[in-house]
Amino acid sequence: MNSFIVRLNFHGDLPFFLGSKRRREVIERRLTEKTSVKDVIESCGVPHPEADLILVNGQPVDFYHTLRANVDVDVYPAGFSPTFFTNKRLQITHSIKFLADGHLGRLSRSLRLLGLDVAYFNAAEDRQLLETMQRENRALLTRDRRLLMHAVVQNGYYPRSQYATEQTIEVIRRFDLLRLIAPFTRCLRCNARLEKVGKAEVMEKLKPLTKIYYEEFRRCSGCGQIYWPGSHFSKLQKRIGELHAQFSKSAA
Ligand SMILES: [Zn+2]
Repeated sequence: MNSFIVRLNFHGDLPFFLGSKRRREVIERRLTEKTSVKDVIESCGVPHPEADLILVNGQPVDFYHTLRANVDVDVYPAGFSPTFFTNKRLQITHSIKFLADGHLGRLSRSLRLLGLDVAYFNAAEDRQLLETMQRENRALLTRDRRLLMHAVVQNGYYPRSQYATEQTIEVIRRFDLLRLIAPFTRCLRCNARLEKVGKAEVMEKLKPLTKIYYEEFRRCSGCGQIYWPGSHFSKLQKRIGELHAQFSKSAA
């Protein structure tokens, strides 16, 4: 087979994955054997869950489309030009269950604080993470590109920022979660739901000052941890207000 050239054009924020030295949009690959478009895209460093629309010479294709001659490939991230080839998109835009890898503890906590369902194990091996992801049908959150490229991953996201606050905003935007935010409904330790509980039921577990100052309590249905609207409550309310303001600004 003669060699052929694939020209890949990465749109939106996908050049983020192309490496700092060559963060330009177009990459040329000379190939000597037929190759799936998914493999060529991943060879450039872009994990397949980040590719929402692929055009080969202007026509939409799926990940298993085989390249065997000179072509132009355009790759678009989720959320890019949402009115363009709407029925040929490769990713889901909305997910409500997540699994974060062991390096994203602060992001997990931040999402749980907002009531979102995030499984997190700080010492799990990749194999265990992928098994849980599949069994519980969760979208994978990871900054480990190799893990996100694993063949069994269908839905996932690579937070661009290194900071939990910005990562939280990214995840809310990527998976359309703003409507689901329900603060203080999920346990920060184990991710189970919190239930309202009468003061008398938890009285003996409270510290003296908590007994005096608080009347409303919630208890984790999983691990039994007790929560009350302490000083962090007003901080969280402020942050949620900021989130809403930020999204209404970006939607305007
Ligand atoms: Zn718990």
